[in-house]
Amino acid sequence: MSGSIVEAWRERVAARPSRAAIRYFDGTIDAATLDKLTDALATELQARGVRSGDRIGIYLQNIPYYPLALLAVWKSGAIAVPLNPMYRGDELRRLVEDSGTTGIIVARGTDEATRSALAGTPVRWLLSASSRDFQTRDDPRVFTEPDPAPSPDGDLTTILAARRGQRPARIMHDGDDIAFITYTSGTTGPPKGALNTHRNFLCAVSGYAEWIRLAAGDVSYAIAPMFHITGLSLNAGIALLNDVTLSMSGRFEASVALDTIHEHEVTTTVGSITAFNAFFGVPDAGADHFASAKRVYSGGAPIPPATIDAFRDRFGVYLHNIWGMTETTGGGIAVPPGVAAPVHGPSGTLSVGVATRCVEVITVDAQGRPQPPGEEGELVVTAPQVIPGYWQNEEATERTLPGGRLHTGDVAIIDDEGWVYLVDRIKDQINTSGYKVWPREVEDVLYEHPSVLEVAVVGTPDDYRGEAVVAYVSLREGKATDPVELVEFAGERLAAYKRPRVVHVLDALPKTATGKIQRGALRGR
Ligand code: ATP
Ligand code: MG
Repeated sequence: MSGSIVEAWRERVAARPSRAAIRYFDGTIDAATLDKLTDALATELQARGVRSGDRIGIYLQNIPYYPLALLAVWKSGAIAVPLNPMYRGDELRRLVEDSGTTGIIVARGTDEATRSALAGTPVRWLLSASSRDFQTRDDPRVFTEPDPAPSPDGDLTTILAARRGQRPARIMHDGDDIAFITYTSGTTGPPKGALNTHRNFLCAVSGYAEWIRLAAGDVSYAIAPMFHITGLSLNAGIALLNDVTLSMSGRFEASVALDTIHEHEVTTTVGSITAFNAFFGVPDAGADHFASAKRVYSGGAPIPPATIDAFRDRFGVYLHNIWGMTETTGGGIAVPPGVAAPVHGPSGTLSVGVATRCVEVITVDAQGRPQPPGEEGELVVTAPQVIPGYWQNEEATERTLPGGRLHTGDVAIIDDEGWVYLVDRIKDQINTSGYKVWPREVEDVLYEHPSVLEVAVVGTPDDYRGEAVVAYVSLREGKATDPVELVEFAGERLAAYKRPRVVHVLDALPKTATGKIQRGALRGR
């Protein structure tokens, strides 16, 4: 696979120009129209001086301008930098400075604040995008305020109209060219800029599409935000590069997401467990919403086994497991097609699946020696979808990707049939009285308690034990539970040394911008 994403996209458009490429509330954009719009925007970018290798930021929620901007940035020759639209001030400035971004596509109404946050950076312009375009009537569930004013630097609505029918100078990409710089979630430290190449993206997308038996006419809902690799590759990428429709409904809001899944007859989606968990809080939501769904995956964080059953009971579909990292361009290990129910290992643990095509997974011991099947070790991944390195961070590249092999920092067991069981993150292991405890095992037990919404287990310094196992939980709405009851609940189900000494009840657990629970923020609290 030596081509670029743009070539792959053009092939799909030529094969079926009339396919619905995007659905957004009541609006539809066919592939040929989307192709022309991306030509118009790419022409504008080139006219603004954008050249091959320049970094252009996309700072938007999941609206049609997101995939449109991505394709246009690639057509212009540049590298896309997905920026979390919730970031403000210094959070945003850090990523923009780190990546050397020179122009950004922003949501209407955010340009002024963005401009002041980015004063003194290399950013030369901010083009605004309306979240109302491409739907024919304003949806009252979402659009309650008037549309904010366009950016004085330019606005996509007018630019696309003015440049209608224009085409950019054609740029050829090599498969090894960088397509985007995606920042990791920042669960274990500051986010790192992963260099995802055109080949990385094409391989990640085709491997996953094959694994879920994606078919013409499928509808992929963008439940994950597109600044994260999951949204980019597994929600949008699989749709854009196949005869599949990308369904979107803006910023994630559980009831709107469920309505969209129902109305657009969504067949597949991948999101984080946090998003799926939010569906439980929507009154009257149920199996009817997922009537068209063939395959639904949850990735990016562990799925508590208790939640899978509860989800299946309420919504009629299983949440299948998929494992991936920003560094694998999303996915890499997933429950394969034909497997209808979750696969549990001998000790009841849930499998994340088997490696997708072209992905090689092994586990290694602390000395880097390959482990036999069934033995715990660090998961090491070799694949054409593994990034060549981090942006301007040689030290992290050498440490994490020695010889091009990705040392994931995750501990796993691979059985002799290739099923992968993810144990936990190496860094999070707790050492208590000389015993090793994986927080995940303790968390899974607490998730079985009916009052518990979310859990994080960490080790805190303890004079006597070295580290003590401590749990932080948030509770489901309307459920008051004595922390002592939770200590006892866990105590009845775990070996003595694994039992949490204390359970703290918090209103909410600290999370990354991608919705992952940050154990690190609780340690030493
Ligand atoms: P950072 O690298 O900045 O600390 P991060 O590792 O959370 O953040 P991502 O690239 O978004 O950033 O996430 C990859 C990690 O998410 C994996 O290394 C793994 O620990 C976790 N993960 C992904 N999928 C699953 C899954 N299905 N089950 C459990 N954990 C998962
Ligand atoms: Mg990571």
